[in-house]
Amino acid sequence: MRIGHGYDVHAFEPGDHVTLGGVRIAHTQGVKAHSDGDVVLHALCDALLGALGLGDIGQHFPDSDPRWKDANSRVFLCHCAQLLREHHYRLVNADITVLAEAPRLGTHRAQMRANIAADLETTPDRINIKATTSEGLGALGRGEGLAAHAVVLLAHAENGNHGHDHGRSHHRRGR
Ligand code: MG
Repeated sequence: MRIGHGYDVHAFEPGDHVTLGGVRIAHTQGVKAHSDGDVVLHALCDALLGALGLGDIGQHFPDSDPRWKDANSRVFLCHCAQLLREHHYRLVNADITVLAEAPRLGTHRAQMRANIAADLETTPDRINIKATTSEGLGALGRGEGLAAHAVVLLAHAENGNHGHDHGRSHHRRGR
C-alpha cells in the first residue's frame, strides 16, 4: 500500500466559469491558470504521483510547455492512470477536499466523482469529494481563489483485490 497527498490553488480572474473535477461550473469569475485550472484534478494528480514516488504534476506537465495551454486537466489524470497501470498499482480510494467560498459544488459532485472514476478506471464509491469554506479567513476566505487537497491510497496489483478483500480470500486460500 502507498499513500499520497496533493494540494493545489489557483487565483480567480475575470470569467464566467470554473472547472472542477472535469465539470464546468458557472461562476461569477474564472480561474487564472495555464491549463483549465482544475484544482481538484491537479491536487489528485499530485497525490497519485506522490504515492508512486514520481514527483509532481509540474515535472510531468511543465506550465512552460505550450502543449498544456488551456489543457483539459483530465489529460493529466489519464496520464497518471497510465502510470498507475505501468507500476501495477490500483486506487483503493481518494478523498478530496475543495476549499472555496464559492461556487458551491452541490449537484456537480456526482459528475465530478463519475469523471474521476472513469479516468482512473474505478467506481465512484472510491472517490469522495468534500467541500468547505475558509470562514472568511485569508485569501481563500476573501474569495480571491480556490484550492483543493487530495489524499489517495494505492494497492499493488499483486494484492489483486482492489481493496475489496475483507478476509474472504484467506478463507478461499485455505480450502
Ligand atoms: Mg494547478
